[in-house]
Amino acid sequence: MSNAKIIDGKAFAAKLRGDITTEVAKLKAEHGIVPGLAVVLVGEDPASQVYVRNKGKQTIECGMNSYEHKLPAATSQEDLVALITQLNNDPNVHGILCQLPVPKHIDENAVLAAIDPAKDVDGFHIINAGALATGGDGIAPCTPYGCLMLLKDTLGDLSGKRAVVVGRSNIVGKPMAQLLLKENCTVTIAHSRTRDLPEEVRRADIVIAAVGRPNMIKGDWIGKGATVIDVGINRIEGENGKMKLVGDVDFDSAVEVAGAITPVPGGVGPMTIACLLNNTLIAACRANGVDAPNLGFDS
Ligand code: NAP
Repeated sequence: MSNAKIIDGKAFAAKLRGDITTEVAKLKAEHGIVPGLAVVLVGEDPASQVYVRNKGKQTIECGMNSYEHKLPAATSQEDLVALITQLNNDPNVHGILCQLPVPKHIDENAVLAAIDPAKDVDGFHIINAGALATGGDGIAPCTPYGCLMLLKDTLGDLSGKRAVVVGRSNIVGKPMAQLLLKENCTVTIAHSRTRDLPEEVRRADIVIAAVGRPNMIKGDWIGKGATVIDVGINRIEGENGKMKLVGDVDFDSAVEVAGAITPVPGGVGPMTIACLLNNTLIAACRANGVDAPNLGFDS
């Protein structure tokens, strides 16, 4: 029988969205500012369409303005950058997100570089990545920022803890490692060339799995009592032939040893959009010289 705490990201994200809604109403009442998030989607990728729809819905539910720009798959890079420039110059838009992946004929890096770093609510611009790496006041990428909120809510002070981040992507692994370092963890970044990955994972107090391989991290890789944050979202065929979502951690064996663990779904997943809305609120405050609230770390 497992004693692990199951970290409820769905409930945490709902509370965060509630707090954002309250702050947005205050910003409107006290300063006449309504945060605005522009989402740009190029092409008709079905998964991206679902994400964009959910983002728009949750943006409006929080009392913010949502601007959706759906462009045909054949849109040129020049036209896309022109739209981003227009959004950069629009004072009603505080956050800009270009849904990835973009079609192959468009250079993703050029698109990300075109976004005003102050409006880059995904936190992918090189200026924001640099700010995170050097301890500056940038905008942190949503998924790792959400993981940090869950970790601090579970463990409190992270100082001195051994953390292993499995995965080194620019959107999850690397910024996650930087955030943990900022919290004074001793951080190991593991990847596909890491020698003896199970041993690296076993030594950690905090395990972040961001790999994209279903159920890869087994229970006997986890140190007793460790906190496990599973970022992975993998679709696999279940026993009944229906597709189901699983993480990068083999939940059933890991829950027996972990002190706390996020489930998939219902763990990290719901935090991403909530943190996107939080970043948009922060960007709107900063653009208007208003102190931004520190939501997600105050419970
Ligand atoms: P990614 O860009 O594909 O990066 C995967 C990382 O895992 C790479 O650094 C890779 O190492 C490493 N890796 C691959 N196989 C490995 C192995 N056998 N052992 C150790 N490391 C290995 O993926 P990502 O974009 O970071 O996403 C990771 C997962 O998180 C995916 O399942 C994705 O769907 C999910 N995700 C979830 C959210 C959310 O909202 N919850 C957001 C973003 C991503 P190398 O660098 O050496 O190749």
